[in-house]
Amino acid sequence: MNYQNSYATLDPRLYNQQPPTALNNPKAGHFNPFVAKRLGWDQDPDLMQNWVEILSGNYVPEGFEPLAMAYAGHQFGQWAGQLGDGRGLLMAQVVDNNGKLTDLHLKGAGLTPYSRMGDGRAVLRSTIREYLCGHAMSCLGIRSSTSLGFVTSDTPVRRETVEQGAALMRVADTHIRLGHVEWIASFAPDLLPSFTQYMIETYYPELTTSQTPVADFITAVVTATATMIADWQLIGFAHGVMNTDNLSITGTTLDYGPFGFLERFDPAWINNHSDYSGRYAYQNQPAIGHWNLNVWMMHFMQLSGKALFHDNKKTINREVLGQCLAKYESSFMGHYQKGICKKLGLPWESLDNSDAEAETVTEVINDTLKLAFEFLEFIEANKLDYTNSFRSLVAVIDSNSNPYEAELLQAIDAELDNEQRAAWADWQQRYLTHINTIGVDTAKVIECLKATNPIYVLRNSMAQRAITKAEAGDFSEVDRLFQLLTTPYQQHVLATQQDITPPDRSAKPLIISCSS
Ligand code: AMP
Ligand code: MG
Ligand code: MG
Repeated sequence: MNYQNSYATLDPRLYNQQPPTALNNPKAGHFNPFVAKRLGWDQDPDLMQNWVEILSGNYVPEGFEPLAMAYAGHQFGQWAGQLGDGRGLLMAQVVDNNGKLTDLHLKGAGLTPYSRMGDGRAVLRSTIREYLCGHAMSCLGIRSSTSLGFVTSDTPVRRETVEQGAALMRVADTHIRLGHVEWIASFAPDLLPSFTQYMIETYYPELTTSQTPVADFITAVVTATATMIADWQLIGFAHGVMNTDNLSITGTTLDYGPFGFLERFDPAWINNHSDYSGRYAYQNQPAIGHWNLNVWMMHFMQLSGKALFHDNKKTINREVLGQCLAKYESSFMGHYQKGICKKLGLPWESLDNSDAEAETVTEVINDTLKLAFEFLEFIEANKLDYTNSFRSLVAVIDSNSNPYEAELLQAIDAELDNEQRAAWADWQQRYLTHINTIGVDTAKVIECLKATNPIYVLRNSMAQRAITKAEAGDFSEVDRLFQLLTTPYQQHVLATQQDITPPDRSAKPLIISCSS
């Protein structure tokens, strides 16, 4: 692999260099061959042969420079002070096959100076959830960490009960969180200029030639976060713990804990059971992103009067920050509206390239948005499955050549009373009329619907079945879900009815423990 351990060259106050603490008698859980290829891991026989030893912390290959990062954060809206990698280590940074700097981070690697009251470990259950969800999100086209693989072991880890200690090699463009800046501002403010310079040079190199690199960097983080959260809303993903220490500076989804995908649509859904006030409910995510960025960016006022790159000591004051933050709403709305139109089958690209009058285009978009919001209200009122309902639109356009979607449509029908069935028929009619009026080829509409609305997401019940088997030593269900989620927009031969079935209407939601 092409190692480039740049974080390890920064000021030593920012991290603690240390090896992982080995797990006992490690066993292979699952290995991601796509990630191995992208990293160049598969080109090194030593890495390939010893991946279980490496992921269990029993062997640190040459080229790795493991360290625990210091960071801070706001948790549930409160300043939490110093946090840091309490159970994870940045093992190495490598330049991948696409020329992108990539972090290899071992989660569950033992105690660090930042472990506080924790044991430095991760259990198999939460490791599998993170492994499958990072993969699912990446394959859905959402910026996310993913993993090279995971192992389990005989090391006992005490949570509500005693569980198997596991470890996951997480792979992401960066593990720098909003909370890194908060830590520096509080505990080592003299490092803020050089650390800001590092973040810009490493993750936003195009800004190094800007006349206002710091303001542009802040704006870039704002827009990256806004578009990431818009993607979450569109796919129906609830992160569950949107503390500032869990949001990256590049808009990459990080830290899968008590996350969930929407099933029977309830925008007020709280998937984190220790979130008593619903701060991180699905529908609050956009506002929370804004809140987090606001507390984060205030620290850059310390940089006022300091020259970075070409900015010649520009002032970073509340007014400048206000302008940066103002980009949040427009980026979020722009990305969300485009996405929801695509979820209704409106091929945005053809609209962008059409020679229609701007007014006509705006009208088409507004009419599509109106239909989309009515559709969302309808599936909410009837507690219909978020994923399946969007996918069923394929059959609204053409049920004859799409038997899979025709079945979804029938399943919806079976859940409605007469009044709701009439409302649904009315909506479908107006939707079809709209599609006809805008004059896009129906084949294009279907293509767009199928490319935007997945068949498979990681439902809690799916993850749970894979976990139960794995805890008994059988990883075949993890492997099956891994394959299914690799191509979530296509029907898969390994799929079962359970993979596409939401919980019963009357079922109590599956409680996902927050302990991990
Ligand atoms: P989270 O809420 O999972 O993002 O974690 C918040 C903080 O707690 C981070 O600093 C974690 O590294 C730390 N942490 C979580 N679980 C453990 C654990 N079992 N041992 C040590 N630190 C932990
Ligand atoms: Mg975290
Ligand atoms: Mg976590």
